[in-house]
Amino acid sequence: MTTESAINTPEHNHKLYIETVGCQMNVLDSELVVGALRQDGYELTNDMFDADTVLFNTCSVREHAEHKIYSQLGRMKFSKRKRPNQVIGVIGCMAQKDQKLIFRRAPHVDMVVGTGQLAEIPRMVQEARANRERAMAVSLGRKAGSRDTVSRSFESYDPLREPEMRPSPFQAYVRIMIGCDKFCTYCVVPSTRGPEQSRAPSHILSETKVLADQGVKEIILLGQTVNSYKHTEEDKLHRLSDLLYMLHDVEGIERIKFVTSYPKDMGNDLLEAMRDLRKVAHYIHVPIQSGCDDVLKKMKRGYTVEQYREMMGRIREILPDCAVSSDFIVGHPGETEESFEKSMDVIREFRFKNSFIFKYSPRPGTKAYDLYEDEIPDKIKKRRNNEMLALQNEISEEDNTNFIGKEVEVLVEGPSKNEEKKSDNQSTAESADPNGPIQLMGRTRCDRIVVFDGNPRLTGSLTNIGVYDCTPTTLMGTIVTRAYQHGTDGMLPILQ
Ligand code: SF4
Repeated sequence: MTTESAINTPEHNHKLYIETVGCQMNVLDSELVVGALRQDGYELTNDMFDADTVLFNTCSVREHAEHKIYSQLGRMKFSKRKRPNQVIGVIGCMAQKDQKLIFRRAPHVDMVVGTGQLAEIPRMVQEARANRERAMAVSLGRKAGSRDTVSRSFESYDPLREPEMRPSPFQAYVRIMIGCDKFCTYCVVPSTRGPEQSRAPSHILSETKVLADQGVKEIILLGQTVNSYKHTEEDKLHRLSDLLYMLHDVEGIERIKFVTSYPKDMGNDLLEAMRDLRKVAHYIHVPIQSGCDDVLKKMKRGYTVEQYREMMGRIREILPDCAVSSDFIVGHPGETEESFEKSMDVIREFRFKNSFIFKYSPRPGTKAYDLYEDEIPDKIKKRRNNEMLALQNEISEEDNTNFIGKEVEVLVEGPSKNEEKKSDNQSTAESADPNGPIQLMGRTRCDRIVVFDGNPRLTGSLTNIGVYDCTPTTLMGTIVTRAYQHGTDGMLPILQ
């Protein structure tokens, strides 16, 4: 019996609008929530003013992400005058962090649901519509009970899969753990996502098999510190490396990636599994955050630059072709010009494939918010951000030129961004031949983006591309076809 039939629900149009901000974990959560609501007959719409059910899946990592949600909620203020049965819900990290504050700031919100209670959403939406009463479901605070009690209040939500909301029909996120126990001083995740808990390998394996049966070729394993994964099942301790061996055997899966790694937990067992397993991408996102030990200490990251360097040495030795990317926070309290220069030095030294650079943003509920003054003016943060980005781009472009003249294998993800823009601007009447060549985009095994012209039917396949040019972020190439030349022994590669 569906939730709808169990509750006497007032008339509504079964249109669902969901807006997602934040990380891949939120994208996956939205996919799962939509999947559950579809079971109750809901259909997605892109127009929030046309939906009787509106959900905002939120992020608390930066202030900007929260402002965006409050401004969207502001736009919904009078919406219920036209749609008295409308239900507006705030779900995810901001819901867990702000709880009742959301009702105070946006009294037209009907429900607030934290990251650990997403399974409740279908029932809560129906009850909110039937009873017109506000409802809140959140997990316990990190200090509200024993670790076990708090952990139990954060339930990992991994039920149905919803192909429509995936990055592409051939790619899927698979959650392997929730929460975080690292408590970096600037970060809200340990409160909003709760204690670190790894999912059972048998559950992850059966989910992956279902996805492979649905045609998924690439899975991206998700965890806040994904390489800290640990789960004991049938008296055997499984680490991420063991999980990779297990998932590698799933027929139909061609590529396996994982994000985000934590430097201190990068064991050789994992690097060796990456080396030995053909399907595992040679790509690691392992944020250093700063190149200065004093700042790392203030951040409570738990390692020094020298320890990170030792980890990079092992990566380079075991996986010489592995691409490594990083995150940086600029303008963290205590970051002097000298510390900033040390961060620039580590970019030069480690030559990251790319770096995600963020300006420090003080977050209520974090240690840094209580302990340190946000002493660095925004102007300086911006300048450091721009300088760092320019340096990283220079390095990315230099390293990308090494691919020019070489052949790379890419998993084709679909039309490139340019192609998507082009087709958005094109009227149906003038639309091109659906089977004609378009600009496609794919990724190499080391996660480099490649664009090339090809038939859209190549989407989801592994294709060889000859690279002829590059930018800091993209390799440009052409499809490599091979033909037998009569009278020769081998295959003659022809660049188209
Ligand atoms: S490792 Fe640190 S930055 Fe990453 S989620 Fe955990 S607390 Fe946040």
